[in-house]
Amino acid sequence: MFISKKHHVFAMDKNNEPAAKAIVPSRLTFETLDCFSEQISCMEDKVPNLDFDQINPATGPVYLEGIKAGDTIAINICDIRPKSPGKMVAAPDLGALGKYVTEAETLLVPIENGQFTFKDLTLPINPMIGVIGIAPSGEPIPCGTPDRHGGNMDTKLIKAGTTLYLTVQVDGALLAIGDLHAAMGDGEIMISGVEVSGEVDMTVSKAEGLQCDHPIIKTDQQIAIIVSAETIDEAIETACYEMALFLERNTDLSFTESGMLMSACGDAEISQIVDPLKTARFSMPIDVLRKLGVSLAF
Ligand code: CA
Ligand code: CA
Repeated sequence: MFISKKHHVFAMDKNNEPAAKAIVPSRLTFETLDCFSEQISCMEDKVPNLDFDQINPATGPVYLEGIKAGDTIAINICDIRPKSPGKMVAAPDLGALGKYVTEAETLLVPIENGQFTFKDLTLPINPMIGVIGIAPSGEPIPCGTPDRHGGNMDTKLIKAGTTLYLTVQVDGALLAIGDLHAAMGDGEIMISGVEVSGEVDMTVSKAEGLQCDHPIIKTDQQIAIIVSAETIDEAIETACYEMALFLERNTDLSFTESGMLMSACGDAEISQIVDPLKTARFSMPIDVLRKLGVSLAF
């Protein structure tokens, strides 16, 4: 099923009209606008000139038939196709270096043959999804904010080959996606990755035997729990707590032993430090989880 970028929302909201209905398991292709709603077409289009009501559109939402509140869905990302050119922005007071930036700047970043060109530098793309989430059961959440429902997690591990698990809060889930990046580093420190429009192919199914209060991702290298909070310290601490609980539930280790093993071979990682809530993750190597006998068949 193809979902056109014409159908997009600016908040994850249980009252959003579905753009489409899909029976799970389902293969979906989302066409997405870039995070600026394609307002940037040249280097003169700078942050102060943008209409901020048009920031962070997410294509959808898709109503998943048969999925009920409390179910967990598995979103397997098959392919991400960024559209050239990418756009990068900087402006005073934005991001980790904003206080040193005196003038807004925009860069157009051509993308071709799996590479992007930043000024004279050509580098491999690393496409990932910035915004992917479901409708919260409570108040609407702007697409620019990450939380338990997913949203603007800006986590570079959300890429082709990764499965993202989200626990659904309203019947039908109302899945929406946007903010693709051709590349982004951990932190997204200047507030933009290489921002692109594009397309994402994915399969969506119901996950069995996994309960998660926060988004979980599985790659061929790791399981990571993604937590968003007011501060990055709080996000990292909660991600550690959630991973220790996950290990305690799924292995013979106690909570404290879980923490000690995490301290020995897990990684506390930053996803982004620039959104209304900050996002961190705790990653455990999948080889270690296999040795512990954790069932990864969810
Ligand atoms: Ca983002
Ligand atoms: Ca972005």
